[in-house]
This record gives sequence, C-alpha cells and structure tokens, in this order.
Amino acid sequence: MSSAEERKFELYEGLPRQGPGCAEATRRAFKMLPIAAGRPDILDIGCGSGAQTVELALCSGGRVTAVDIHEPFLRALEESAREAWLEDRIQTRAMSMELLDFPDGTFDLLWSEGAVYNMGFEKGLRAWRRLLRPGGCAAVSELTWLTAYPPEAARSFWSTAYPAMGEISENLDRARRAGYEPLDTFTLPESAWWDEYYTPQLAKLATLERRYPKDSVLIALIAGVRAEIELYRRHSAAYGYVFYLLRRAAD
Ligand code: SAH
Repeated sequence: MSSAEERKFELYEGLPRQGPGCAEATRRAFKMLPIAAGRPDILDIGCGSGAQTVELALCSGGRVTAVDIHEPFLRALEESAREAWLEDRIQTRAMSMELLDFPDGTFDLLWSEGAVYNMGFEKGLRAWRRLLRPGGCAAVSELTWLTAYPPEAARSFWSTAYPAMGEISENLDRARRAGYEPLDTFTLPESAWWDEYYTPQLAKLATLERRYPKDSVLIALIAGVRAEIELYRRHSAAYGYVFYLLRRAAD
C-alpha cells in the first residue's frame, strides 16, 4: 500500500461510520431476508468501526464475526461492543476480504456495507459465496448509478474514482453470475450519507486542515474527499447507495 493510501485511513478514524449507512437501513435489510429464527452466524465484511455490526447483533440476536484490514477500526468496534454488552456475540478479526479464512458453509448470512467496492461487486460476491450454508443470504450495499444518464460532472468524477459502478439492473446480473438469487433492493436515504458520514467527516477535515496546513499529502487527500462530498451535494439524484438482498442460489 502506498503511503498516501495508508494515510487515507486518518480521514476516516474517529467517525461514526466510514461509509453511508444508518441503523434503520441495517434493520430494514435484515427484516427483508428469509433468515430462520434462532442465533444466525453472521460475517460482517469490511466492518470499519462497526456501527452496523452492533445494530446487526441487536436486531438479529445472532453471533457476528466482523472483519476489516484496519486494526484501529476493529479496536473501536470492540469498545462499542463492550458498551452495548455484546462482547459475547461480536468477534473481530483482522483479515483481508480477499482472503477470508473460514471453512465453507460457516455462515447463515454475509453482510457488507460500503466495502465490497474494494474487491468489486461481482468478484467479492463470487469469492464469498462458499462461506454461506446452502440457502444462506447476503446483504451488501454498493455505490450504484440511479440513472442511465448521469450529469457529466458525476460521470466524469466516478469514471476515475470507481469506473466499475453499475446501475441496479447491472448489479443484479452480476449477483446472478456470482451464484446468488436476488430477493430485493432498496436505496439508502440521503440522510444516510450526511448524518453519520459526510457531516462528521467535514468537521474532521476542517480540524485536520487547521492542524496540519503544511502536510501536502494530507491536504491533497482532503481536497479529494471534499470534491466527492460537493459532488454528492449537487448530484445525489444520480447515484446512491443501494442495498442488495440476495440468497445463495442452489449449485
Ligand atoms: N462497513 C463500514 C465501513 C465501510 S468503509 C461502514 O459502513 O461504516 C470500507 C471498509 O473496508 C473500511 O473499514 C476499510 O478498512 C475496509 N477495507 C478496505 N479494504 C479491505 C480489505 N481488502 N479487506 C478487508 N477490509 C477492507
């Protein structure tokens, strides 16, 4: 990893979330899935500091294994799990989503909010499928075009930042190719971008700029994040985060 990539984590530490999301969306997604009552075994992939991990443990009554490659996020999640009296049902593992080291069929449910883009939607889903028991489900949120004709500013920004971004229909095809049956989708509300993500991040960026005005690598990274946020402010109708609710298809 380059030093700029490593330093990018600094912009996301200490925030309530590292991507768009909200507790209501996590609960809504969980309720839409045909998961048998009991204590499901859940894998939360790219959990970050784990706002959704805690919510998921609460609404599912299950056991959640939460993985991320950035250890400070896992430490923050462990702290929230303790505060919520959930240490016995939330386990963290520092692990890459590309090398998930669990036996086949370990989980009833795979969860991943705002993280599969690191591997690519189809590639991630395909690689993770073997971890599900037959009939198990996956809930994955992914940055998605909401229109076939995005405004030029949005098209051009994301053609560099995330060229693989698809429309909902494209992602459903990718999910089918990766061995899943699509069950449902919904788009996260705009409040899920602002309340616990962009708004606290803007405050953090301002603090970092004041503290490290001469740190050119950091200042360049901050400018990139600010551009992303301003783009969303203007063009939130063109793209959004979509939750994909899927079931492992029969072999
Ligand atoms: N699910 C959280 C975090 C989303 S941000 C939330 O919604 O708030 C994406 C997360 O993926 C970050 O925490 C980042 O550290 C993690 N990540 C990036 N590359 C990864 C990889 N190869 N394996 C595991 N986690 C990764």
